[in-house]
Amino acid sequence: MATDLNTTSKIPETVDELSRMIASEGSERQQLLKKAGEIQEKIVGNKVFYRGLIEFSNLCTKDCYYCGIRKSNKNVARYDIDDEAILKAAEFAYKNKYGSLVLQSGERSDDKFTERISRLLSEIKKISNGELGITISLGEQTREVYKEWFKAGAHRYLLRIESSDEELYHNIHPRNEKHDFNTRVNCLHTLKELGYQTGTGVMIGLPFQTYEHLAKDLLFMKELDIDMCGMGPYIEHHDTPLYRYRDQLWPLQRRFDIALNMIASLRLLMPDINIAAATALQAIDPMGREKALQCGANVIMPNITPTINRKNYLLYENKPCTDEGAEECTHCLEARIGMAGREVGYGEWGDSKHYHSRNIPQKEK
Ligand code: SAM
Ligand code: SF4
Repeated sequence: MATDLNTTSKIPETVDELSRMIASEGSERQQLLKKAGEIQEKIVGNKVFYRGLIEFSNLCTKDCYYCGIRKSNKNVARYDIDDEAILKAAEFAYKNKYGSLVLQSGERSDDKFTERISRLLSEIKKISNGELGITISLGEQTREVYKEWFKAGAHRYLLRIESSDEELYHNIHPRNEKHDFNTRVNCLHTLKELGYQTGTGVMIGLPFQTYEHLAKDLLFMKELDIDMCGMGPYIEHHDTPLYRYRDQLWPLQRRFDIALNMIASLRLLMPDINIAAATALQAIDPMGREKALQCGANVIMPNITPTINRKNYLLYENKPCTDEGAEECTHCLEARIGMAGREVGYGEWGDSKHYHSRNIPQKEK
């Protein structure tokens, strides 16, 4: 039986109900997207918050089967932007009232790397008078390192679970200690315990993935009680092991549609969290991120990585905005957000409302 969002206020919550909602098409789908947009406006408002994205290095010690910058891909020119250029990008974000930035890179856990991140976090706080919010997305680390980075100024962490199904997870990662499903789940718990606004997410349209997997992914996020989510379509890359399954994938348009359905469904399930409009949406549809902003997403991550390095952070094919300078991107983006009926929350952190409500001491609730 179809899920009628007009006549019932009950939000689907079983795997079967959610699977049907995620797979919905036609008028049923339109109803889902509309409802999610309405809940978004009512609960988190009309504003969209910027997180200036700095993809500062594509050096990576891991070998995820889907990712174009995996360690074993010898056809990618490796880079590591120097501190000065990173701080310049941070200054750009601050001066342009972005409110927050995201530091993202391949995964490394050597001391040189972790200490450098601590230094950079402190520096960014200093040059922005403590005003720039900082999200980091630097993979799996020890509790001590997460703690150190929190102390140095990071307050949000994005670590996608990629798939919450252990078997599927191991179909898309090597089976070894460096790519262990339980370690990744434990990292998410640690981040929450340490006080980070904690975000996770999945790729949508992976080989072997079903609607039931995706439904369980949403329930995993609900169960973990996350504060933020960044999820988007999986897009194949020719230099990766998963490329051999390209003929079994859903067409790109289907992956895009289901990604929007996932965003909308999550907005119904977790009305007060922050949801990002992933860049991969734009690789399929030039207006992809703006469409996501109309059906549940309230965060966008304009790429402010120095242009010369962008071409080498190719996680997947057709990655957008690899030619444009940061300013060019900013201007086109503001107009597009306006066209989507949303406004930019300039100079605001745009924290997850959910985080703040779950952190109010019990007696004040
Ligand atoms: N290394 C860190 C990590 O893995 O958490 C952060 C950087 S990693 C490039 C950021 C995200 O890119 C991953 O979590 C993954 O979901 C996404 N990604 C990688 N390859 C992708 C692909 N082929 N299609 C879509 N997203 C991809
Ligand atoms: Fe490295 Fe992250 Fe890509 Fe995995 S997804 S290969 S950890 S950059």
